[in-house]
Amino acid sequence: MPNPPGVAIVTGASRGIGAAIARRCARDGYVVAVNYAADSAGALQTVADIVAAGGSAAALRADVSVAADVVALFDRARQLGEVTAVVNNAGITGNLIGPLADVSVDVLQRVTDVNVVGPLLVSREAVLRMSTLRGGKGGQIINISSTATTAGSPGTWVHYAATKGAIEVLTVGLASEVGREGIRVNCVSPGSTNTGLHAAAGMPDRAEKLSPGIPLGRPAEPDEVAAAVAWLLSAEASYITGAILPVSGGR
Ligand code: NAP
Repeated sequence: MPNPPGVAIVTGASRGIGAAIARRCARDGYVVAVNYAADSAGALQTVADIVAAGGSAAALRADVSVAADVVALFDRARQLGEVTAVVNNAGITGNLIGPLADVSVDVLQRVTDVNVVGPLLVSREAVLRMSTLRGGKGGQIINISSTATTAGSPGTWVHYAATKGAIEVLTVGLASEVGREGIRVNCVSPGSTNTGLHAAAGMPDRAEKLSPGIPLGRPAEPDEVAAAVAWLLSAEASYITGAILPVSGGR
């Protein structure tokens, strides 16, 4: 890893897991591009937290599902320095919990756009800029999946779990495709994590309610997911690519 390590783009870093990853990347020396789509106050708070801790960051708005936004995000991040790490964290459930048949077509399309098309666009742009075959200096991509892929979230989030299955396949395929181009691609798959995602879907206590079925008996904290991302980004994981690392308390 170069020293300093360069710029890390973290999508969906205005709160929750993305904000924790952004703070952790800054702690590890990255200049952080704190991406958000709508929550500018949250993104500015993430930047303020990083700066208060002695780091460097900028809030960059971009809807990851919009190709032109993604190109502009990379252009603006490049102004901060060489982009060497990209974390595909932005993800949504559609703010509902229920069976697939009750999910509207609009929600299905939006969740797929943000959770699948978004990481595809971001990963494509990352490869275009980082691949050593294309004039880049190499780098890393980390995708954030979910252990929802294990059972497919019947009765709650089948539509969401399916999109997370796609991001795991993206990880495996792209890792093989660009391994010789100086790019490692890995995935972190969190279990139930203490963020606002559950409240937004109408079940604020959902993460806690799942605790009895988790061997470690509790949901994850965002910082614990961020620690796994940090390790995969580190030189300690230099021979790891195409991996899907559960951070799930054993579930
Ligand atoms: P969260 O608190 O709801 O935060 C989601 C983030 O994504 C926000 O910063 C949001 O920013 C951003 N975002 C949404 N749509 C976007 C778009 N189109 N373009 C750019 N950014 C966008 O969610 P979280 O719980 O931290 O989840 C983060 C990731 O972890 C997601 O991929 C999620 O699927 C995954 N995950 C979460 C859990 C869990 O239990 N929480 C478990 C497993 C996996 P704006 O409001 O500005 O759009």
